[in-house]
Amino acid sequence: GFKMGIVGLPNVGKSTLFNALTKTAAAQAANFPFCTIEPNVGEVGVPDARLDELAKIAGSKEIIPTRMTFVDIAGLVKGASKGEGLGNQFLANIRETDAIAHVLRCFEDDDVTHVDGRVDPVADAETIETELMLADLESIEKRRAGLVRKLKGNDKEAAQQDRLLAAAQAAIEEGRPARVVEVDPEDAKAWRMLQLLSTKPVLYVCNVSEEEAANGNAYSAAVGDMAAKQGNSHVIISARIEEEISQLEPDEAEMFLGEMGLEEPGLDRLIRAGYELLHLETYFTVGPKEARAWTIRHGTSAPQAAGVIHGDFEKGFIRAETIAYDDFIANGGEAGAKEAGKMRAEGKAYVVKDGDVLHFLFNT
Ligand code: GDP
Repeated sequence: GFKMGIVGLPNVGKSTLFNALTKTAAAQAANFPFCTIEPNVGEVGVPDARLDELAKIAGSKEIIPTRMTFVDIAGLVKGASKGEGLGNQFLANIRETDAIAHVLRCFEDDDVTHVDGRVDPVADAETIETELMLADLESIEKRRAGLVRKLKGNDKEAAQQDRLLAAAQAAIEEGRPARVVEVDPEDAKAWRMLQLLSTKPVLYVCNVSEEEAANGNAYSAAVGDMAAKQGNSHVIISARIEEEISQLEPDEAEMFLGEMGLEEPGLDRLIRAGYELLHLETYFTVGPKEARAWTIRHGTSAPQAAGVIHGDFEKGFIRAETIAYDDFIANGGEAGAKEAGKMRAEGKAYVVKDGDVLHFLFNT
């Protein structure tokens, strides 16, 4: 599954948000299984109305949403790359995530101390990014030193790694995150494997006051500008509102959201923004036993998509019987879609589309 690390300076509202999100997910319905793996790790079922529709038509006994994992990564402070705060332990936690949800304080409240004594989310974002860049620099230098012997032996893989590390190093030494490095398609995988912190896509979460949850404020607007320049994205959320929602019954929560001028809980918006940021899509497997959603990256081939379910499905892939979501619904389910000629047999080269209902055939 895909994993989002929640980071941010102390006192910006991370824990409030994390606790609210995971509680809301747990309370929403039996459909949204949630489990706390560790105190700071939560798995959240991804809300998707299409899955419910598919299950209704197919009479599926069980609905299993795809999941996204949130990890509350505490301890990021100025100097973290030098071992301040929780230091390196938390940097290792960030390394394992697919994206960073960076919570920024966009609310004023004299009773809540800001570590730097003023509310300035753009400066806070830079503080954190600088720590990530410094941590990268240190790890790059170590790794390049470790490659020297292999380079002398003309090891191709080592040469590729060293070349990519050097490019990242050059960017960071100019004060820019490794994210700005343009990578050729044939290097893309090796580049991802480097797991550099300043290459992770960032979703800025602007924590605003209750009254500003619907439209944001000047702080969140400034964050939006910054995010757009970086090619990152941002969402506006009030951790306080999310906290209140998490304590309400679902129908009460809906009323409360309406009063606040909001259409859906912040959880839904956060997940959707994460999907967009990571170019994630969903495909479905549907039968009488269960209707289930699976997450893939945009551009995933049918065998790779099968591999998300089980490695053997990918290895022994023969073909995928495919029905587009709209065709499945319009024809009243699989039998109707088949009769209408809307079920396609797709081979190895097929690129799965968002909403596809798939049935894999494979050799064992
Ligand atoms: P963390 O250190 O980033 O995890 O921050 P916490 O979630 O512990 O929040 C720090 C303090 O800020 C707590 O007292 C929260 O109640 C408060 N807080 C969080 N979000 C808001 C908000 O939107 N408005 C106000 N006024 N206070 C908030």
